[in-house]
Amino acid sequence: MSFIPVNTPSLRGNEKQYLCDCIDSGWISSEGPFVTQLEEIACGVFQTSHAIAVSSGTAALDIAIDSLGLSVGDEVILPSFTIISCIHQIIRSGLKPVLIDSDPVTWNINHTLIAEKITSRTRAIMVVHTYGLPVDLDPILHLCNKHGLYLIEDTAELIGHTYKGKPCGSFGDISILSFYPNKHVTTGEGGMILTSNASLANTCRSLRNLCFDNTARFVHRRLGWNYRLSNLHAAVGVAQFELLQETLAIKRKIGMTYSSSLKQINKLQIPLDCTQYASNIYWVFGILIDPTLGSASDFILKYRELGIGTRPFFCPMHRQPVLKSLGLFPSEEYPVADYLYAQGLYLPSGVGLTEDQLSHVIEITLNLFS
Ligand SMILES: *Cc1c(COP(=O)(O)O)cnc(C)c1O
Repeated sequence: MSFIPVNTPSLRGNEKQYLCDCIDSGWISSEGPFVTQLEEIACGVFQTSHAIAVSSGTAALDIAIDSLGLSVGDEVILPSFTIISCIHQIIRSGLKPVLIDSDPVTWNINHTLIAEKITSRTRAIMVVHTYGLPVDLDPILHLCNKHGLYLIEDTAELIGHTYKGKPCGSFGDISILSFYPNKHVTTGEGGMILTSNASLANTCRSLRNLCFDNTARFVHRRLGWNYRLSNLHAAVGVAQFELLQETLAIKRKIGMTYSSSLKQINKLQIPLDCTQYASNIYWVFGILIDPTLGSASDFILKYRELGIGTRPFFCPMHRQPVLKSLGLFPSEEYPVADYLYAQGLYLPSGVGLTEDQLSHVIEITLNLFS
């Protein structure tokens, strides 16, 4: 069997047709009709009043954080175990990132550790739904209400999933999506900001487009970005949203198959299939390897030699050289995030994974760990 990549996207719907529509009509920039259509679809799926398409999930986070208009020294709470995209604009805006360790079973932010980190400077909590299981949002929403904090909801990994029956991405004062090829909806590169706050939505639209003035076009009162999404990308996204329910069913099936085949291995910790508040959609299927067998990096090499692509888990924020060199997080400890990083990897989980490939990865995994 040839090499099995960690992710294979599946462009099996109207992607090609909609791209041809762009080329035939000449509408290729962000002014084209698919961008608006993609935003309207997102408003429906995520039950929000406004959706702002941008060029990546990272761009969406940059704009979302900047749009809140926080002051230098204000604090934003976020998990240490996440992607670096979450922290860029916190730092560039002169805000203070305040980290929280993960829950050892769900791998999401451990909400029981948040209250003790709230100070008079705290302005926002960022949650990141990680790998397939939603964050338990109710206790965090309670803290946000009690202390008057914004909730920023990173829903990049759980497009189309729900928490207590309501769409993930609909809970944040501002939420973001990514349309990178390993996400449930892809545009190649792309992202989205979601909010039901009209004033935040206007600010985000302006920040996305260099803050051009509505009346004096080339006069700028604020620094923004060109983070626009092209009509070509949006065309692919519209086709991908048509496939979303089927995509989610495929993801869940891949995850359940891994889960039922691997749960007998007692030296592997596998993802929870569900909690009281949500099921697992298995955006990716992560495994945590018992340290007595070695580290995740050892097994990433072994899998590669056996023709299987895997990915390490996130390197936590308090371990990032670029952040440490800024003097951040001196001697702070987040042992669960460290453990996840040391022992975790995820297996091929893309929508394009074939049944033969899935069986092969399972067989290799049983051989490696049993
Ligand atoms: C993928 C991802 C992002 C970043 O999205 P890009 O489109 O790659 O910039 C942000 N947050 C999370 C949790 C992600 O998984």
